[in-house]
Amino acid sequence: RTVYVNGEYLPEGEATVSIFDRGFLMADGVYEVTSVLGGKLIDFAGHAKRLERSLNELDMTYPPEFDDLLEIHRELVTRNGIEDGLIYLQVTRGSDGDRDFAFPDAETTRPTVVLFTQSKPGLANSPQADKGLKIISIDDVRWGRRDIKTVQLLYPSMGKMMAKAAGCDDAWMIEDGFVTEGTSNNAYIVKGGKIITRQLSNDILHGITRAAVLRFAREAQMEVEERSFTIDEAKEADEAFVTSASAFVMPVVEIDGDSLGGGTPGPVAKRLREIYLDESLKAAI
Ligand code: PLP
Repeated sequence: RTVYVNGEYLPEGEATVSIFDRGFLMADGVYEVTSVLGGKLIDFAGHAKRLERSLNELDMTYPPEFDDLLEIHRELVTRNGIEDGLIYLQVTRGSDGDRDFAFPDAETTRPTVVLFTQSKPGLANSPQADKGLKIISIDDVRWGRRDIKTVQLLYPSMGKMMAKAAGCDDAWMIEDGFVTEGTSNNAYIVKGGKIITRQLSNDILHGITRAAVLRFAREAQMEVEERSFTIDEAKEADEAFVTSASAFVMPVVEIDGDSLGGGTPGPVAKRLREIYLDESLKAAI
């Protein structure tokens, strides 16, 4: 694989980052994951915009010019012959060669920019979409700025491991009795035909797929309500699903051992998955 590191395209084995990099020492960095379908980028503009926002929120200086970022993404897709897969992009604050809690001088410290690809043949035809996900609920003990897409992913990783240990696929996180989001996706329920998902705030990541799916749902005259819901309400819903750049729209068929909609993916989730894939493929660049 060819990867991108700080302006260079290199074989993955030759790419290096300093051990003093604050991304490594302090999880001081942000990331984006963009899907590739048929060699094209899905929702690229949304991911580029959110990257800029995450960097701004953390006072990071890397100015990602849209066209440059797009060019790097396309170059990696071409060099690695990616038909279907993912592009991972990470920007960390870099380092001034020492370890300190205070940020190094932004004038003299360059951020570290890394991109690599992951090939996922048949990404849009995942058998999981026909089966649906089994999820567990866990406490949300993450920090309070989940709207910033930082690389602090230890707790979400632990959440996935807890799900695995319980024989499930993923976990939804609960705070003050309400579902915030999935470990790596936004969470939805469907009740009486209405699509319900938590409102945007600092408590959840502002999913790029979420924004697109809600727009398509409204355009298709489906009813959408952005509000918090409890795990008990979710267990009594007609359907549930999650969205993310890599899973698109993925049905949920079981929550904490209770099955939803007879344990098979519901019609609203299926329809939204079809619409999302159709529409975002048409708009792919
Ligand atoms: N919420 C969390 C915590 C995530 O990690 C992700 C994606 O990684 C999402 C939501 C979905 O965001 P997007 O649709 O932009 O991939």
